[in-house]
Amino acid sequence: MKNIKVKSSRRKFIANLAKIAALSSSVSTIKSFGFNSVNALQLPNFPNGIVPYLEKFENWSGEVKARALWTYAPKNSLEILQIVNWAKNNNYKVRPKGKMHNWSPLTIANGIDVSSRVILIDTKPYLNKVKIDKSQFPSKVTAETGISMENLLNALEEQDLGLTVTPAPGELTLGGVLAINGHGSAVAAANENSLSLGHSYGSLSNLIISLTAIVLDNESNKYILKKFERSEPNCQAFLVHLGRAFITEVTLQVGKNQRMRCQSIIGIPASEIFGKEEVSKFSFAKLVEKNGRVEAIWFPFTDKPWIKVWSVTDEQKPKASREVKSPYNYPFSDNLCDELAKMIKTIISGKTSITPQFGKLEYFITAGGLEYNQSFDIWGWSKNVLLYVKPSTLRVTESGYVVLTKRSNIQRVLNEFYTYYNYLIEKYRERSIYPINGPVEIRVTGLEESDDIINTSALPPLLSSLKKNSKYSEWDVGIWLNILTFPGTPYSNEFYMNIEQWIFANYSEPYAAVRVEWSKGWAFERNSVWKNKLFIENQISKSFYSEIAPVSDLELASAIYQKYDPYHIFSSPLIESLKI
Ligand SMILES: Cc1cc2nc3c(=O)[nH]c(=O)nc-3n(C[C@H](O)[C@H](O)[C@H](O)COP(=O)(O)OP(=O)(O)OC[C@H]3O[C@@H](n4cnc5c(N)ncnc54)[C@H](O)[C@@H]3O)c2cc1C
Repeated sequence: MKNIKVKSSRRKFIANLAKIAALSSSVSTIKSFGFNSVNALQLPNFPNGIVPYLEKFENWSGEVKARALWTYAPKNSLEILQIVNWAKNNNYKVRPKGKMHNWSPLTIANGIDVSSRVILIDTKPYLNKVKIDKSQFPSKVTAETGISMENLLNALEEQDLGLTVTPAPGELTLGGVLAINGHGSAVAAANENSLSLGHSYGSLSNLIISLTAIVLDNESNKYILKKFERSEPNCQAFLVHLGRAFITEVTLQVGKNQRMRCQSIIGIPASEIFGKEEVSKFSFAKLVEKNGRVEAIWFPFTDKPWIKVWSVTDEQKPKASREVKSPYNYPFSDNLCDELAKMIKTIISGKTSITPQFGKLEYFITAGGLEYNQSFDIWGWSKNVLLYVKPSTLRVTESGYVVLTKRSNIQRVLNEFYTYYNYLIEKYRERSIYPINGPVEIRVTGLEESDDIINTSALPPLLSSLKKNSKYSEWDVGIWLNILTFPGTPYSNEFYMNIEQWIFANYSEPYAAVRVEWSKGWAFERNSVWKNKLFIENQISKSFYSEIAPVSDLELASAIYQKYDPYHIFSSPLIESLKI
């Protein structure tokens, strides 16, 4: 799509209109967006020298779209301030935009147009500076939030630094990942001492030492930049904020880089990995106990999941491993083969009965791909084994929850999930309905341990799904449960609704509790997602409430946002529905 730049002065504005009129016969112009072009092109009194453009918004899964919204890629924070203050005076919302990989419509509601008075701030092109400070232990990195995770990790690697917790795709922006407590899959392995090297096992947000947010200054009634230290109580609401804030820069604690090995296992039955007892050395809990870092990808209607097991090694490459010097070492999962593409078309067209064959093909492609690419056992610097998903991977949607519990409950949690999931899938299959055509993905992380932040009286991220429940100090892990399917697969929302209800009913106190994974699907109804008001009011609110705290974390966070952004400039309908 062609961007149409519109200068703010009236003369240039009219000149632009003339240009657009001239263009309209030959190229796709604003007319094709289907709204009144004259109104659309007016952003009254827009700051001089800042030239927004109309651009399509489409999130990665294609479920949140807007044909054209005002967008601008600021060169620096001062330009953002100018836009935010303009937005305040003109009743606009400002929405930071990263790589648009979020499934939940936190940035914008689906289908809006310019009349919705939203301006998107694209952080990627310019807000990506990074500076590393190794002068003291622990080392720190200060980065602007538009930097991609891969570029951040590259910069760290050059200085012998790295992260234990990072999401699998490298293209996500730091700002986007922090907004939703982005995570990887890691708890401490037996005898591991990574904490002493400056690492942590919660979400990336728990590594924040300080951050700069855009907040209202009450005296001048203008939005300004304000730096928050991690020990400051109000900082707690900005560590994870779902887009109810604009963060321009953060300083993170980072640890010494590590050599890591990633071994894949594809021959062990799901019934053994997720079995009731930890009898097998391949039970999920045993693998976690030994190595700390495990992921299961279990394709539909197959019986042997793809298990990845990461382990920290010394400098010596294990004999059996292949050394990797760059990330994304599973190309078969990032590129569709023709056969798979054909089956996807068939499923999307509504012929879902081929789902069992589709699942089997996914499994065979994985098994063959691991062999062909010699990726069964890889070894290298942490980044090269922790980043393994490219945007070209299968475009699916997914539901996401995290079960908080004690580490000794991992196997029980997974066995119950495995048993119920099988039962539900079978119930649908009996009716010849196949709502789920993607894999189940399981990962385990630690919780947000503020003490991991060295030399600071750090407070926890209030809205993190991994925030500890003060009533259960013995809970120390988060077990992530994701179920993937193609967007729009018939009956998928109904299936998700059923399993969501079961998950929240089954994992209850004092054994466990559940929170939603903000970036993914939740609050399902029979035909919709993120719309179940009762679920939001009851389950989500309750999950951020502890009997021994005077006020819920959502309420506390909401009060902080109200103080610093009373005009709700940084908000969207989904965020409003959470009452923050
Ligand atoms: C294929 C795929 C794989 C994924 N894998 C993982 C994974 O392994 N682990 C994991 O935790 N997550 C994963 N995710 C989810 C992902 O981490 C989140 O969706 C994340 O928010 C995406 O970052 P982004 O740059 O695309 O942000 P966007 O989608 O552009 O934005 C997400 C939210 O962050 C806000 N935001 C962005 N920048 C800023 C800023 N500077 N200040 C304030 N708010 C801001 C936006 O307004 C929006 O509310 C995955 C997503 C996909 C599509």
